[in-house]
Amino acid sequence: MLDVVIIGAGPVGLYASTLASLHNLQGVVLESRDIVGGQLSNFYPQKKVIDVPGFISITADDFVDSLLKQNNDRANRLDIKVNETVESFCQSENGYIVTTNRNEYQTRTILIATGMGKSTPRKMGVDKESQFKNIYYAVKDKYVFKDKDVVIMGGGDSAVDEALMLQPIAKTVTIVHRREEFRAQSCSVDLMKERGIKILVPYVAKELSGEHEDVTKIILENKQDKSDCIEIATDAIVVSYGMVAGRNNFDLERYGTDVKVYDSYQTSQANVFAIGNAINYPGKVKNITCGLGEAVVAITKIDQIIHPGKNIPVHF
Ligand SMILES: Cc1cc2nc3c(=O)[nH]c(=O)nc-3n(C[C@H](O)[C@H](O)[C@H](O)COP(=O)(O)OP(=O)(O)OC[C@H]3O[C@@H](n4cnc5c(N)ncnc54)[C@H](O)[C@@H]3O)c2cc1C
Repeated sequence: MLDVVIIGAGPVGLYASTLASLHNLQGVVLESRDIVGGQLSNFYPQKKVIDVPGFISITADDFVDSLLKQNNDRANRLDIKVNETVESFCQSENGYIVTTNRNEYQTRTILIATGMGKSTPRKMGVDKESQFKNIYYAVKDKYVFKDKDVVIMGGGDSAVDEALMLQPIAKTVTIVHRREEFRAQSCSVDLMKERGIKILVPYVAKELSGEHEDVTKIILENKQDKSDCIEIATDAIVVSYGMVAGRNNFDLERYGTDVKVYDSYQTSQANVFAIGNAINYPGKVKNITCGLGEAVVAITKIDQIIHPGKNIPVHF
């Protein structure tokens, strides 16, 4: 019987794993993808993250690496199992049985850190989109875009971050947004304008054409005046329209689309906790640091449940 099963090895699940070993809890971390790091590894590995404690600036990949090293440094570390998706869990005599695509685990407590679930990128929704290999939904390696004419679709933080990241490497960067106003932070939008990145608003993709597996031209349609269409030659398109969440809320009570939490991030089920982007509550901030803080609270509570009467450490 394990003390805790942590579901999800995003930044929040990884840090919860380190904390679990510091609290001498026996457990496993189950991750459905083949790599750990969640959104950081899958959607923005080369982005410079500037709002996590202790780093002036660190790439998302390096931050995940640090979390993993911190976890692996401990002799009593929890085993992290990738390619293992938790499908369901049910109550047993002394706790829960967690069922994955591969195994069953008996555990006293569960900590859900599943973020957006197994999310998939939102597409442009135009003909032939899936046929071209040079349409990307995340910038995993910025050097793929070296000396290329790149079109970025989107107006949120990720689209603008990508435009700023690719501009020094690409030949040209054009950002296309369907609204007049960008949703991204105003300082990033100002920087984008200062740097002379070409901005086209309010446009959406209408048509793609290309040769073999490569898109070479995108036709944009003005959202307000549909007769106004622009044709742009391109070597690569980055679609930054966000993610379609693949959430599994495990039949727990919800707050909106996310898991609802109570005291110490306990869910509607006894001894089942949830943290990070998987949850929501008034005032919740869906970022890395907020999730890391929630991990501290939930793991401390789990230690109290597993070791009643123990003098629970608050620092190490
Ligand atoms: C483009 C972009 C840029 C961002 N930039 C920043 C930034 O600069 N600073 C910042 O603080 N935040 C940033 N964020 C937000 C940040 O990435 C999230 O707040 C953070 O990833 C949440 O971590 P998490 O561990 O809760 O969830 P996730 O990172 O989503 O990880 C959840 C993990 O759980 C796994 N999982 C899901 N379901 C199951 C299941 N059933 N079984 C097993 N495993 C499962 C998933 O595969 C995933 O690996 C950004 C987000 C995006 C999209």
